[in-house]
Amino acid sequence: MKDICAVSTPLAEGGISVIRISGENAIDIAARIFKPFTYESVENMPGYTCAYGNICDGDKIADDGVLTVFRAPKSYTGENVAEISCHGGIFVTKKVLRLCIKNGAELAEKGEFTKRALLNGKMSLTQAEAVMDTISAQGEYALASANLTREGRLFMSISEVSKKLVKILGELAAWVDYPEEDLPEVEENNLRNSLESAIGVTGKILADYDNGMILKNGIDTCIAGKPNVGKSTLMNMLLGYDRSIVTDVAGTTRDVIEETAKMGEFFLKLSDTAGIRHTEDTVEKIGVEIARKKLENAMLVMEVFDTSRPLDNEDTELLEYVKNLGKRTIIVLNKSDLENKIDREFFDAYSDNIVEISAKNDEGRECIQSAMEDLFGFGNYDADSTIFANERQKSCAEKADRYLKMALESLNMGETLDAVTVMIDYAANALLELTGEKATEAVVDEVFSKFCVGK
Ligand code: GDP
Repeated sequence: MKDICAVSTPLAEGGISVIRISGENAIDIAARIFKPFTYESVENMPGYTCAYGNICDGDKIADDGVLTVFRAPKSYTGENVAEISCHGGIFVTKKVLRLCIKNGAELAEKGEFTKRALLNGKMSLTQAEAVMDTISAQGEYALASANLTREGRLFMSISEVSKKLVKILGELAAWVDYPEEDLPEVEENNLRNSLESAIGVTGKILADYDNGMILKNGIDTCIAGKPNVGKSTLMNMLLGYDRSIVTDVAGTTRDVIEETAKMGEFFLKLSDTAGIRHTEDTVEKIGVEIARKKLENAMLVMEVFDTSRPLDNEDTELLEYVKNLGKRTIIVLNKSDLENKIDREFFDAYSDNIVEISAKNDEGRECIQSAMEDLFGFGNYDADSTIFANERQKSCAEKADRYLKMALESLNMGETLDAVTVMIDYAANALLELTGEKATEAVVDEVFSKFCVGK
């Protein structure tokens, strides 16, 4: 297998860059370009050691830096690995990379280091996927989940189920194929229990998936309300800086403005919309139409009202409109710094989550956060045990879940064990694909296509 190299740190100016080489000859390649001060030669360096020295192009010094040596199989990829840390300039980093190529390494493909780790049995497919999740994690829970998966927790829980199913399949096959033999009969109750516990595992993965997506991708949140209630000001408050143009001319926010705000563990993908009022202005009409679409697609709607003015038709129209959409909502009663002209109880019919804020004075952020926690049940997650699946894992779990339920139903309806066996077989295969134990090359390639070069 060829020796590969890549820059493993972002290619941007920084303190240090790391160039990684992996393959049978990785350490020999490093020896050609790295002259250690603290070891006689690179070849003499044991695994897990590093040396300070010069990075050279023949006799010319290109940079000085640190070389770390890992010897197979005790490395990330399971192969010999050399990591050269040089100064973090773009030109010097590329130069060291070119030196590696000049001395025998080839440029790695996306995720090729991790792919090799998978092929060399250093990790399972789910663990490899978790490497990417660790890199992209943007909050404590997402990171904790990625770490659990990287530890192998997801692999183990699924593997336990699939092993059980494969064992059952073996027993069923023997019993169906050799009925005349004196084999212990497959006990129906045991079979039922095993299927039920397997459904419990797939069900948990599927239930946690949505929460995981919320944590990983954020919550599509639409800020709605008639002009001048303070939507842009609220958006700026949530973002922490002035993004929207705040003016007191009704209808200023014509386009949908989208930004991402962090709120505790959540990411809100905010869109500040034009109001949904009736208008004859052609441009504004388009804005209103976009706003309606946004509302329909949002996961959360923040309905904003100005408490310093009595409610009018436009306000109640919005309340009714959003209520009919059946969305999760937070009713935001803004301008609490001014004299109150509305009846708060009126809103009780529309949402359980009503907060009073003064967006202009940056007051009430914590009320919005606590309403979010109520709405998205964040308090129920246990960072020590919750694992969030990705889209691929979810679709395998769904398939397994479906077949397991069909198997259970067939069993309960007293159908032949042949039929039950076929369903269990499909379910087991879906789970083996989830863990990667039976994933096709295409699936593996698809997983690694999402990686960055150098990982
Ligand atoms: P939008 O049209 O709904 O986006 O409303 P804006 O955010 O542009 O705000 C309209 C006007 O209300 C501006 O003059 C804001 O300064 C003012 N405003 C927004 N929030 C508050 C608030 O909490 N208190 C007070 N007193 N004025 C506010």
